[in-house]
Amino acid sequence: MPRLAPYQTGIWLAEYLYVRCQLCRTYRSIPQSELRKHASPSHIEHSTNASATFEPSLNNSTFANIRHRISHRLNKGLLCADCHNSIIWLPKSFEVDIAAGTSLTIQAATYYDYPMRQAIRSFKHHEDMTKLPLLLHAIRQLPRPHGCYHNNSVIIAMPTTDQRLIKRGFDPVSILSAQLSKHWHIPLWHGVRRIDDTISQQGLTRAERLSNLDSAFALISKPPVKRLLLFDDVSTTGASLQALARALISTEITETMNPKHQNGYRVSAYALAHGSQ
Ligand SMILES: [Zn+2]
Repeated sequence: MPRLAPYQTGIWLAEYLYVRCQLCRTYRSIPQSELRKHASPSHIEHSTNASATFEPSLNNSTFANIRHRISHRLNKGLLCADCHNSIIWLPKSFEVDIAAGTSLTIQAATYYDYPMRQAIRSFKHHEDMTKLPLLLHAIRQLPRPHGCYHNNSVIIAMPTTDQRLIKRGFDPVSILSAQLSKHWHIPLWHGVRRIDDTISQQGLTRAERLSNLDSAFALISKPPVKRLLLFDDVSTTGASLQALARALISTEITETMNPKHQNGYRVSAYALAHGSQ
């Protein structure tokens, strides 16, 4: 079960009680499940899977059904249709190599562009929690990966260093990944530590980023399942996610000599926003 985040109350208020859009603050917000019916960008191959994520789970629990119906009636949504439609959701995914013959696919919820860039910056650098509902709306655009469930997959959030955590006072990626975990109903796994103390990847070339990141991660234990879903807030070149994926599959590759072996890990990556260089 996902832990109750200290920011959850603000999100509940925004989603269930406020009737105004969290972005323009002018028009009425609309439940996300209804917005989805309007938006159908042509390049999204898995949009059919996506809607399933928002439907009630098909079980016989009356309690779950009642709870879903109440929540559906109360749900005012987070954005209005205009704001939702003004943002480009689910940019085309991109790939980076993680081993010979194996690439990592990175899917972002949106572009690191106005208004998401400003919202992410305020949230990350100034701990501005009023931006969290917009970021949550973005996270919910990410369809649950096909075939991934709570019992065969884990989400691995991009770990931060102790130094960075102390400096910043909070870990934005862990808050966002907790929301992704709730959205997908897939648990988080915290078995990777970040051990480098590189301050920031910003302003470095791709080669510099990669060499910096080569020994940035250390596994505390082996992942409990084979399907690993990596998550970061902003991915520009994909270098951090690439390095994390390499750290996760490296032991497996030497064991099997074939990363596509049926016992090997299957890794894919997700980001809140895809930044441009
Ligand atoms: Zn709006």
